[in-house]
Formats: sequence, C-alpha cells, structure tokens
Amino acid sequence: MPRDPRYDILFEPIKIGPVTAPNRFYQVPHCSGMGQRMPQSLAAMRAMKAEGGWGVVNTEYCSIHPSSDDGGYPYASLWDEADVRAQARMVEAVHNHGALAGAELWHGGSYVSNLGSRLPTIGTESRPSDGSRGNPVQSRAMDKQDIAALRGWHKAAAKRALAAGFDIVYVYGAHGYLVSEFLSPTLNRRSDAYGGSLENRLRLLRELIEETKEAVGDRAAVAVRYALSSEDAQEGFARLAELPDLWDLTVDDYGIEMGGSRFVREAALEETLAVAKTITTKPVVAVGRFTSPDTMVRQIKRGVLDMIGAARPSIADPFLPAKIRDGRPEDIRECIGCNICYAHNSLGVPNRCTQNPTMGEEWRRGWHPETIATKASEDPVLIVGGGPAGLEAARALGQRGHSVTLAEADTALGGRVTLESALPGLAEWARVRDWRIGQLQQMANVEIYLDSALTAEQIVDFGFPHVALATGARWRRDGIGRWRETPFDGWEHDRVVSPDELMAGRAPEGSVLLYDDDHYYMGPVLALHLRALGRPVTLVTAKGRAGTWSGVTNELEATNRALIEAGVELITNHALEAFDGTAAHLSCVFTDRTIERPADAVVPITARRPRDDLYHDLMRNPDNGLKSVTRIGDCEAPGLIASAVYSGHRYAQELGPAGPVPQAARREQILLEENPA
Ligand code: ADP
Ligand code: SF4
Repeated sequence: MPRDPRYDILFEPIKIGPVTAPNRFYQVPHCSGMGQRMPQSLAAMRAMKAEGGWGVVNTEYCSIHPSSDDGGYPYASLWDEADVRAQARMVEAVHNHGALAGAELWHGGSYVSNLGSRLPTIGTESRPSDGSRGNPVQSRAMDKQDIAALRGWHKAAAKRALAAGFDIVYVYGAHGYLVSEFLSPTLNRRSDAYGGSLENRLRLLRELIEETKEAVGDRAAVAVRYALSSEDAQEGFARLAELPDLWDLTVDDYGIEMGGSRFVREAALEETLAVAKTITTKPVVAVGRFTSPDTMVRQIKRGVLDMIGAARPSIADPFLPAKIRDGRPEDIRECIGCNICYAHNSLGVPNRCTQNPTMGEEWRRGWHPETIATKASEDPVLIVGGGPAGLEAARALGQRGHSVTLAEADTALGGRVTLESALPGLAEWARVRDWRIGQLQQMANVEIYLDSALTAEQIVDFGFPHVALATGARWRRDGIGRWRETPFDGWEHDRVVSPDELMAGRAPEGSVLLYDDDHYYMGPVLALHLRALGRPVTLVTAKGRAGTWSGVTNELEATNRALIEAGVELITNHALEAFDGTAAHLSCVFTDRTIERPADAVVPITARRPRDDLYHDLMRNPDNGLKSVTRIGDCEAPGLIASAVYSGHRYAQELGPAGPVPQAARREQILLEENPA
C-alpha cells in the first residue's frame, strides 16, 4: 500500500548538526536491562529498531567512568577500549539499516550508589543517594579538581563514542543525575563558580556541551537531554538554546515522562514543551508514548517537535515507522503503557514487553517481531481459550501457515484482558486483544469459534493432532497466597467475593474490605472500581504500601495517590485472619496484635489457580490420539499478561511435527581468555 501523503512529513530527512537523520523517528535513549553485560543482545535489539525504520537509535544511559555506577540496574558504559568494541557492535548493526546511532553519555552523581565500583559517589554537595534505591550511601561534595576530572572523563568518553562510530553524542542534563544536580536551584547550594546564580548553575552543562563538541568535531552531533519543567529551567534553556545540535526535552518527573497509561495520556508533555521551538532553532525531540501517526504529524505541524521521540512505542513495535511508511498503520502494535518493559530493567534483567514477545529475544533466540519460520508440518492446531496466550499462539501459528482453530467459551475474545481493561485506568490494555484480533482477521487459515466451551471428549473427537490449552486461571477465594499458607476463617461465607466475580459484575453491597496479597495493580484497581460504584472500601495489605510491585513499573506513587484521593482506607502491614459476615479480623505481620474492621464483604486478591482440568482429563486418557497437548499462559503458570503473550508466542515458535520442542537460547558469556589474570 502506498503511504498516506498526510504522513509524508514524518519521512523528511532532518539535519542534526553535521549529520542527517533519514526521517523523524527517533528512538530516545532508553534502558534495556542489558547494558554493559549483554552487548550482543543489545546490538540485535537496537538493530531491530533501525530495521523497522527508526531514523535514530540511541543507547541507554552510558556511564563515562566507574564513579558513575548504577549497579543493580543494567547500564551501558564507555569506560575503555573493551567498551568501545562492545558499543561498536550496536553502532554497526544500526548503521547497516541506514539509521544514525547515538550514545547517551551519563554520570549519575549523587543519584546512584556505586555499589559495584565501590567508589564514593560525587555530587554538588554530600547528599544521600536517590530515595527509591534506598541504599545507605552519601556522596562526596565535588571540589574544583573533581569538576576538572569529570570534564576530562566526559571528553574522553566522547572520543571513545566517536571511536565506536556514534553519530550523536549526548550530554545528559536531566533526571536527577549529576548535571541536573548542578542545574537545580534547590539541590545546588554551592558558593563557587558552579553554584548560586543561574549562569553559575549552567556552567557545567555549558562546558560539557562545548567540550563534547570539541571532542567530536564535525563527525558527530551533540545532543542534550534537558528537563524544561520550571521557569528557571526555561531561562537556562534560552541561554543555551543554540549551543547543542539537538535538544531532547523532557520534564523533571519520570512518573509523567514515562507514566503508565493508567495515569498519563499520549503526548502528555506537549503543554510544557510547546514553548521550546519558539526559543531554539535547533531540532527538538521529546517522547509522549506516541503510537498514532496523526498525533505525530500534529506535533510537527504545530511546531512542538521536529522529531518524534519514542522509547516504549519502539519497544512494543520496532516496525512502527515501517508500517506508517508502507501504508499499513492499522498493523502498528500499540504500546499499552503498562511499563512492564521498565519493570524488568528495574529488576536487573532484559526488558520484556507485554505487546511484543520478541523483545529481548532478538539475539538469544533469533526471534523477529515481524517474521517467523514457516510451519514444520501440515498439522492443524486446536487452541482452547482466546485470552492473550491463546490469541498470540493463534496469530503466530497462523503466521507460520498452520491451519488453526481457536475455541473460546465466552461470547467475546480476550479473556482476562477483556475483563481487566474494563476496570478504572486499564482501557488501553485492550490493545493486547484488539491488535491480535485485527491480525487474525487477515488470516484465512485461522478459524475462531465463540461461545464454544470445549470438553476433553470433544477435543479428542475433533482429532486435531496438536492441542494448546490456553484456558487461563481463576482467582482463589480462600486467601492463600504469599502471606497465608492456609485459608482464612470464614472464607466460604457467601459475602466473600472473588476478583473474577467482581469483574463479572457481581459487586457486593455495603462496605468492602479488599485483602491484597498480590501487591500489583489488581488490588488498587479493584478498590477504585468499588469506590466508583460508591462502596466504602478498605484495602488491607501485608506490605508497607499499597501495590508495592508497582514500584518497579514506576506507578507506586500515582497508585497510592489515586487510592487516597478516592477515599480508600489503607491498612498496611496486616493480613486477613477471619471474616464473619460483618467484620474482618486482621493480624499485624510483625507482632501478635490483631484489629477488627467492620465489613459487609471481603474480596481476597491473593493468588490464582490454573484452569487446567482439561489438560488433566486429556492426559488421563492414554488413547487420546493426540500428538501433543500443551498448556500455555495462565493455564500453565498464572502470571503477567506479558507472560501469557510470551508463552503463546513461544509455543507457536517451538511447535514441530511431534509437538513443541524447547528452543536453545544463546547465552552471553564472559570469555575467560579475554580476562587474563
Ligand atoms: P491467558 O492469560 O493465559 O490467555 P485468560 O484467562 O486470559 O488466560 O483466558 C483464558 C480463556 O480461556 C478465557 O477467555 C476463557 O473463557 C477460555 N476458556 C476456559 N476454559 C475453556 C474451555 N473449556 N473451552 C473454551 N474456552 C475456555
Ligand atoms: Fe508498552 Fe507495556 Fe510494552 Fe512497555 S511493556 S513497551 S509499556 S506495551
């Protein structure tokens, strides 16, 4: 299909200092969970974006010196020649597809803890490391010599970036890291030439821009990441407006910049950043979880941005630009804003993605987001259950060319995604279902039957050689989970309501006590759902805060704010012991103390049971005549929606003539010969 001429503007090349980007699609620096430890995975992942049409592809935060060590969080580095070789892999892979490669040089300052390098951290003054990391570490106040050393490290790293072949080199002036400490009117209390007045606070950034320009000459552009959130920051921006070759603008609050879709909409930075292009003539890029080409075009036409920045949309669909270019924007696999990608970086492992199961598997398993090996046999496949696992298995098997039949018990597809996306703030999550349905509708070899609850006998009678059971899981009612090993007293009471019943529309009357031992979004979201229905709600959690796991998705603050603002009573550090129909009995998780709370109903959100009866029924029958029976998704092991999609995809990737065969996954190993004693 020819592309819609309305989108032509997105494909105009643009000059960035001495280099030219082929189009307006700019993968901003984003963490990958791979960093310095996984150069091959990293190169393959970044290359995929270049192949998919991103005109600029950047590294993640790339440390210039061991005094900037975010140990525990995988970061990149350009400390030495070995790093140059590792980074050169990415650069080469990105260049092979005609894109520019950028390196985000970074010093963490007081924000980091240097747990790995064991060097003291450095900053404007002696400050504790960032609170969310919670490490009992404080930095050393930088003196003149330290500032001179820092400038030297930055310049040397810029030269190494050039040696690795990068086309764009960053000075990182945002996100609480070292340079932004200097910029800050509240954090920078220095009385020397680097503190006090705005000009003094700008000094370090100005020097780093100038020295980076000197280091890279006319071989690379110099970009600056900068937060434009305050009047002071705007004035600083105005003073440096023409100094770098590109501005990568953001706001101070990560929770907004990369906010989950539960709390933050597409193009959320527009209002704050709109002023930038009235101040600078240099190209401006910013993120906004852009997935709609119309929104992208509007950003450029309204003069807000010159380039469309993306981290998450480029993870969910590395081929987003190519799909717009080729006139098929409806095929874009839109990011749902769940922040599961970021969560895995926070957990110290490669990013994964709810929408894109191939993310992080480009090198390890050789998976590609757009193509897949042709089927290994002519065998047709039956998939039972049309939730995220079943839909993804059907889609990927259909793409392999298998004849696929999908049977869904319900009258609608989507399983848990359909139920959950009706809850407060989760509407965008329906994209997991909708994108897959859209793809399946284009496949003549996939048939879908709704309202078709299958039994084991029917499955055997149908005679499909391969059966995938994607029948999901159900929430437990008995309170067993992480904290409780036995059911709570009174769990069989008819005023104990499971999350499944609640989502099916059976909200109890009166006051409701939610007992959350799941610690992610489900408890808080159900609490908000019940508040919206006007019920008095108490949320009890055995942890110290509601929805603690949302800390890794960067939604913890917004989650707790929403609960407090909605009038949900929060009881932390308590577990549910008993419910008698009028009151719940709670125990302190640290002491023997107990408390009582009146409640007309209790909703335990603790754990799920796989719905695997069909599997056991089929396996009990040795004459079932099936070549393979495989549980996928929550039916195998309840988990994230991302895990269900991945499981369905892996099944489709691995299905051979006799059934699924586990694929070998390559490992990045450090070769001892390279590290002589
Ligand atoms: P997952 O996250 O693993 O995809 P879900 O719970 O989202 O799991 O989806 C499971 C789907 O399977 C639901 O839509 C459910 O209606 C369907 N299902 C469960 N049992 C059967 C069955 N016996 N026959 C057909 N569909 C079923
Ligand atoms: Fe978007 Fe979620 Fe994928 Fe991250 S994990 S890119 S937020 S869909």
